[in-house]
Amino acid sequence: MKIVVLGAPGAGKGTQAKKVAIRFYVPHISTGDILRSYIQEGTEIGKRAKKYIDKGFLVPDDLMINLVSERIHEKDCVEGYVLDGFPRTIPQAEAFEKILSAKGAKLDGVINVAVPDEDIVGRMAGRRVCLACGATYHLAFMPPGKKDTCDVCKGNLTLREDDEPQTVLKRLRVYHQQTEPLITFYGKRGILQVVDGTEDIQDVFGRIVEIVEAAL
Ligand code: AMP
Repeated sequence: MKIVVLGAPGAGKGTQAKKVAIRFYVPHISTGDILRSYIQEGTEIGKRAKKYIDKGFLVPDDLMINLVSERIHEKDCVEGYVLDGFPRTIPQAEAFEKILSAKGAKLDGVINVAVPDEDIVGRMAGRRVCLACGATYHLAFMPPGKKDTCDVCKGNLTLREDDEPQTVLKRLRVYHQQTEPLITFYGKRGILQVVDGTEDIQDVFGRIVEIVEAAL
């Protein structure tokens, strides 16, 4: 199964994409996570991407398309995957469609986790990430057991640099300009489903599971 989870920054798409991947035994592919690990490792791609990420801009399409194209050809992806954070632009979606059709494959579904802008900035302020293992938390919706400490690896939790309020507003603008058009793009293909991301995490997840099961 091949699923794309769409949503504004802070809509909860990462949380949901991770849960869906576990539920259906396929890898969770988060392009944001991959880029952050390249940045931590100090690779050339990481250095190039960091300049954009820190400013709240999108990383260039060619880099992202190559990165995802390589990732989805890895062995663990034979049964499918849940894509989180890709595609994020129309050119990415078009390139992805070509990559899939060259293999005679297609997407099973695209799920948009919808949250109004008014909720986003407040939500982002509560997000925390573990610098060591990348686990994510939210002070209100998914707090760690012990303050500022990762449940998984005991690493320190911090606010992601690009989750600072100033950068969040920029990311939201970028989302509306470059990513939101994908809703129409996939709507026209008849594979888009929208879930209300303001509901409780488990309720949103339950709804997504229903959608995925119906699509398979
Ligand atoms: P995320 O963790 O999905 O919010 O991604 C963090 C940042 O990585 C984004 O704000 C972008 O700068 C960059 N990024 C992640 N995925 C993509 C993509 N598909 N296209 C362009 N930039 C991306």
